[in-house]
Formats: sequence, structure tokens, C-alpha cells
Amino acid sequence: MGDSTPIKYKPYNRSSIKKAPQWERIPHDLREAVDVVSHVLPFRTNQYVLDELIDWERIPDDPIYRLNFPHQSMLDPDDFATLRDLLRSGDKQQLAKQIHVVRSRMNPHPAGQLTHNVPELDGEVVPGIQHKYAQTVLFFPSAGQTCHAYCTFCFRWPQFVGEEDLHFAARDAAGLAAYLKRHPEVTDVLITGGDPMIMRTANLERYLEPLLVPELDHIQNIRIGTKAVGYWPQRFVSDVDADDLLRLFERVVGAGKHLALMGHYNHPAELRPAIAQDALRRITATGAVVRMQSPVLRHINDDPAAWHELWTTGVKLGAIPYYMFVERDTGARSYFELPLAEAYDIFRTAYAGVSGLSRTVRGPSMSAFPGKVLIDGTPTIRGEKVFALQLLQARRGGLVRQPFYAKFDPAATWFDQLEPAFGESKFLFEEEPSAADSSVLGKPLDLVGA
Ligand code: SF4
Repeated sequence: MGDSTPIKYKPYNRSSIKKAPQWERIPHDLREAVDVVSHVLPFRTNQYVLDELIDWERIPDDPIYRLNFPHQSMLDPDDFATLRDLLRSGDKQQLAKQIHVVRSRMNPHPAGQLTHNVPELDGEVVPGIQHKYAQTVLFFPSAGQTCHAYCTFCFRWPQFVGEEDLHFAARDAAGLAAYLKRHPEVTDVLITGGDPMIMRTANLERYLEPLLVPELDHIQNIRIGTKAVGYWPQRFVSDVDADDLLRLFERVVGAGKHLALMGHYNHPAELRPAIAQDALRRITATGAVVRMQSPVLRHINDDPAAWHELWTTGVKLGAIPYYMFVERDTGARSYFELPLAEAYDIFRTAYAGVSGLSRTVRGPSMSAFPGKVLIDGTPTIRGEKVFALQLLQARRGGLVRQPFYAKFDPAATWFDQLEPAFGESKFLFEEEPSAADSSVLGKPLDLVGA
């Protein structure tokens, strides 16, 4: 047990936040913005975040406040004004219509998620699964499709807004296990959401146990994406079933799997409370590994010093810096986005200041349609300034880590704004695939959408 007094999880939504002790500290115009924007983008926070992570002397600029509380500029100004006026008028029908219109414009499923990564088994779609890269299957358990608090930048926001055609999830692991038995090329399962750690331990166990059977020996690595390490570290320390959870981790590790908690840490403030540090120590003591990842976000962590503190504190506590992502092209993107050149400079400055043990981190990386595109530099080659790029993951596996180049564009914020350099008409993944491109270690890929 940690040294913190156990507290009970207390969430707040758009209505109940008005009862939170800190609500009165938010100026009137900011409160109205919370109300208007949270009709489009999901809003949820909890008492631990309010008490321990937000510095109320610094709102609205405090990074965790920005990370949790919707802000007027997260919507297009015209959309904001229209929604605000509809809310004031009380016309619920028009309001619902307008909310749907605004959401549809916010690219709810970037990178072909609903159309290109959805696998089939015997001609039927397997619910709650995405299979984009040969080795890795993503699994979305239905009981894990919420989070202890919501991030305002969330690229999975459609999972939380209750529009049926915008989300996907699986009720049990039977379809997943059946699919994996037919796919020996898969070595990694990423259980994600939302946050699977929102589930009680007994529930999580129902999803994990089927992966431990001998027929699935080819599943070497089980990853669990979680933000609980930042938003509710009590999950691993003082919740009633926290110890059961750690025993479950030990069983998974004991069954010969590598268990990795993919910890979403957006800011070093999330690692400062004693209980957050305690959570990390308890998780790693089970044999599980914690890897740290986050997008680089305007208003939140667009500062090399924040990344420096995050990576070095994480390493000291036993976590492994893994990814700096570029904010995805969805949701309130324009509020958070940074030019790619600036994201690269932040990464490089932070990276240059840490020891080799923190340099396990990769980035900045874009999860785009062809794969995970790494920005590897902005050199001048043969008189042309370019972005040096590589695919860290690729739909066509043979293209992984092959360097390619785009014209330098100081304003570009996402991959689709880039053009091939050196007068080329196509990027290498747009060329006709060769046999080598679509195979890994000589084995053909058998992927839907590959
Ligand atoms: S924790 Fe992850 S899934 Fe949950 S709201 Fe934040 S970004 Fe979205």
C-alpha cells in the first residue's frame, strides 16, 4: 500500500462539474465555454485531477486545466457562436442537429480506422478489432471505452460521445481469440480504449485470460494503453482491487508474456504526486513494463523542458520513454497543432539534454494512413531544404525504416500537407508495391486493407 490516504474515485461530467469545489474559481466566460464546447467534445474530469494536478492559480493557462477543460478556441468561432446561441435559446432539436454537423466535420475517424483496418473472420467483421500492421492487433473491449478523465485533444473522442455510427467495441474476447488463432503472424495485442484500466480487475481478467492459452503462444507481447497512471494512479495503489490487479499482471508475466503498460503521460505534472510515483513502482515490481507516450501539444507540452522532466523522471522511476507523437488530424486539432518543424525542434532540444537511457524515445511521429511517419530531421540536400522522413510502421511492411524526403514546409502540421522532395511525383509508399514491400522476413502479409 502507498503512503497516501485512500480516496474514492469521484468523476465529474458537464452537469456535475458545477458542484465541484473548484468550479467557482473558473471565471464566468470560461464556464460558458466549458458548457458549449462539451456539447460537441466529451468532458469528464475527477476530484484527484482537480485537487492534485491542476494549479488553480494558473488557470486557464495551467497545462492540466487545458488538458481537461474545454476552451472556446477548440471550436471554429462560427460553430461556437451558433451552438452558444442555440443553447441560450433552448431549441434542443436544432442544437442536436448542429452538434452532429460539427462533429462530422471534425474527422472523427482519421487514418482510415473504420474502413481500412477492420478485419474479417469467415466473411464476418470481427467487432472491436483493428489490424493495421502485420504484427499488432488493437482490441477495444466495450467495458474499457471510457477514461478516468478525458483529454481535450483526444483522438478517440468519438468513442465517448454516444453516436453509434462513430464508435466500435467488443463485448468479450472470444472473437479476438478466434481471430488470433488464425493469424500466427501477430505477436502483439494492444488492449485499448478509452482506458482498459477503467475496468474492475475481474472484468479485465475476462479479456486477458483467453490470451494466455497454449494455442496463442505466438502472442508474445500484451500491451495495455492507459492514462490511469496519470489521471487515477489509485487504480494501482489503493483501489479495493488494486492488489488483485497487480496479481493479475504477475500471472500474465508468469505465463511467459511481455506485459507493457503504455502509459499516456502528457505532462510531467502527472508524475509529481507521490501516489503517481508509487503506482509506477508497484506496476514495475510485477514484472510489467511501463512505456511513456504522448503527442506534442500546443498549450500543454510545447516546451522541451516539459519533455526533459517527463522522460528523466520516468526513467528514474523505472518507465521507458517510447514515443512523442504529432497531434492527430481529428477533433480540436487546430487548437493543439504545431508546425512539424517546431515539433521536431522541441523533440531534438529535449532529446539532446537527456542521457542515453531516455533516448529510447522516438519521434515526432505521425500515425498517418501509410503508417507511423517519423520526422527525422530538416536537412538541406543538394541545395533543397527537406523533411527527412521514415516509416516506423507501415501497412506495407517492407517499407519500414526506408528513408524518404518531403519538401520543407515551415507551416505544415500534418503529413497530408507534405509533397515529395527533389521533383519526385510520388512518395515511396505511393509507388506500385514490390513483393519485398509487402512482406516481412520473406513472409507475405495477409492483412485486410494492407
Ligand atoms: S486518456 Fe486517451 S483515450 Fe482517454 S481521453 Fe485521453 S487521449 Fe482519449
